[in-house]
Amino acid sequence: MMRQYELVERVRKYNPAADEELLNRAYVYAMRAHGAQKRASGDPYLTHPLEVAGILTDLRLDDATIVAAVLHDTIEDTGSTREEIDQAFGPEIGRLVDGLTKIKKLDLVSKRAEQAENFRKLLLAIADDVRVLLVKLADRLHNMRTLQHVPAEKRARVAEETLDIYAPLAGRMGMQRLRDELEDLAFRHLRPDAHATIDSRLKTLRERNGHLIRTIEKELSDALSARGIQAKVVGREKQPYSIWRKMERKSLAFEQLSDIFGFRLIVGTLDDCYRVLGVVHTKWPMVPGRFKDYISIPKQNDYRSIHTTIVGPGRQRVELQVCTAEMNDIARFGIAAHALYKDGRVTDPETLAHESSAYKWLQQTLAHLAEGDSPEEFLEHTKLELFHDQVFCFTPKGRLIALPRGATPVDFAYAVHTDVGNTAVGAKINGSIAPLLSELQNGDEVEIIRADSQVPPPAWESLVVTGKARAAIRRATRGAVRAQYAGLGRQIVIRAFERAGKQYADESLRAALPRLARASVDDVLAAVGRGEMFSGDVVKAVYPEFREERKIARHQEKAEAGWFGMKSLSSLRFKVPGNGEAADHAIPIRGLRGDLPVRFAPNGGAVPGDRIVGILTPGEGITIYPIQSPALTAFDDQPERWLDVRWDLDGARRELFPAQLVVTAINEPGTLGTVASVIGEQGANIDKLTFVEHSPDFRELVIDLEVFDLKQLNAIISSLKSKNVVNKVERVNG
Ligand code: MN
Repeated sequence: MMRQYELVERVRKYNPAADEELLNRAYVYAMRAHGAQKRASGDPYLTHPLEVAGILTDLRLDDATIVAAVLHDTIEDTGSTREEIDQAFGPEIGRLVDGLTKIKKLDLVSKRAEQAENFRKLLLAIADDVRVLLVKLADRLHNMRTLQHVPAEKRARVAEETLDIYAPLAGRMGMQRLRDELEDLAFRHLRPDAHATIDSRLKTLRERNGHLIRTIEKELSDALSARGIQAKVVGREKQPYSIWRKMERKSLAFEQLSDIFGFRLIVGTLDDCYRVLGVVHTKWPMVPGRFKDYISIPKQNDYRSIHTTIVGPGRQRVELQVCTAEMNDIARFGIAAHALYKDGRVTDPETLAHESSAYKWLQQTLAHLAEGDSPEEFLEHTKLELFHDQVFCFTPKGRLIALPRGATPVDFAYAVHTDVGNTAVGAKINGSIAPLLSELQNGDEVEIIRADSQVPPPAWESLVVTGKARAAIRRATRGAVRAQYAGLGRQIVIRAFERAGKQYADESLRAALPRLARASVDDVLAAVGRGEMFSGDVVKAVYPEFREERKIARHQEKAEAGWFGMKSLSSLRFKVPGNGEAADHAIPIRGLRGDLPVRFAPNGGAVPGDRIVGILTPGEGITIYPIQSPALTAFDDQPERWLDVRWDLDGARRELFPAQLVVTAINEPGTLGTVASVIGEQGANIDKLTFVEHSPDFRELVIDLEVFDLKQLNAIISSLKSKNVVNKVERVNG
């Protein structure tokens, strides 16, 4: 295990100004916190954070990063808290350790390969400081180096995750060597046979070509120095994992791979690059189609180098890359071009555009690091703001959904599927019930609770942030409202046809559409339902010879019978429950939650059990009045607006209906309480209560309440009447 002084020494080697006291304190803190904890290998747990810190000293990182590495597992795995770390090491280190703790929690979520790209973004979004990612990558590297101690069934998952997420992330951050090692370790665990085969073939090839490689290297050096060009010739060998992927992807045999060995020629100046090229191409023939000048036209991520392949000594094909020391640094520390272009993972242009700006940023970050100008200060002020306009959440099955910041479970539901959004009635966030319109946070697991035949409330439209959700809600609510009107219109029209002694059929109405100047049957029905078109006109459009005579007849009767006369009412064929077959002609009403646009009389309403009549109100659908309502006289001269309706509540969900009572009670303390408790005992809701002081002795209370039916309302009335303080109870009827 790395000793305390060793850690300090490793840091001081590259940073003489390192805070020795801070490093010592972190060492002791972690030692105490992890105590007797052991790793799967049986080693003391402390070896792990120390090795992680060690990996980061190789990258010459600042004190805060090294300390965060030493402490990185304390919050998650020991009794330590963020507050404690903040107090002992300051908020900067506290924040880094906290970021690592959050990422560790993500490891528990299942991740599928196709989600890897999003997952990497999630990592970036959660780690708002590039140092968190650096520690995380070092952490993963050490875990991969010791993977053999982990139970076999867990190994594959960790190795896959490393290939899907962490190795590419390392590549993107320019840490090519770290990436190579992560891939190699994962490949070893996942495909030991393939790894061994490629390894042994590489070994054979190396032995067979050893002299050849040395020859090429020497001939190159000689040829260049003869022209007075200073060049460092570095041999490159393709990694087993990238060889294997190329074989898989292109269905090639090992022998068919031409670029297993290559050289990088590192020269002093940009001019030298082209001079080298001249020398090389003069001496050996180049392979057509393999020449690329990324100095003249740099790759999108600023990778610069000249690539060429020559037929070298022994007719061996050799790939050469020519660049300056600075370009080489960028390729090592910045973004190696391989990551984006040879990955073969990023193909969607939008993703690519997004990715390349992310690349650019990361590359600059790491280029700065490599240049070594005040890395502490630089890192401290650097935040990863790349994906801060997005939140990433999971479905219960582990699918990752990317949403704009501010998104709600409703947006989430629509992102999963339009049907899921349209039927959403509730949400669970991380296992707890949460409002459908709460703001989602990165890493939230969201479960949408659905109910069939649900229509999204129109108000959602202004509360969601995604265009997809907004458009779908608009469609669904418009569709639902229109369907309600069309449904009502259909019932009205069918009854109008029946009254005319005809049979309604969509076909015959369709033929009459030109006469009604409407485009479709649904348009006609919706217009009737909205009160924009009269049912009699629809009948006339289909049967031009039809004459409606009811209007006149009714007026005559009305004159005889008066507004409340049952004769008049029966001539209109109002239907009430229990009227036998006649009830079939009435439009069934299922309350406000039914499938028709229904409202209740503004004063008093109507409750099941009441005999009711419907008045078609343009733009609002049917208004239901109790048949005894005096307000109905206002519609006496508009017979086309009267509709036969009946209650149809069998099997429907129980619903509350509005009613209004006027209670005259004795004016004394406690009266109001008595009245309220009677209503409560009967299981009804008081919606609104106004009271008018009548006289010094009495009070008149106007109570708006909600009841299930007439029976319950009558029980309330009698119960109120039985109280001594109550003088009089009257129901208001519209
Ligand atoms: Mn760890």
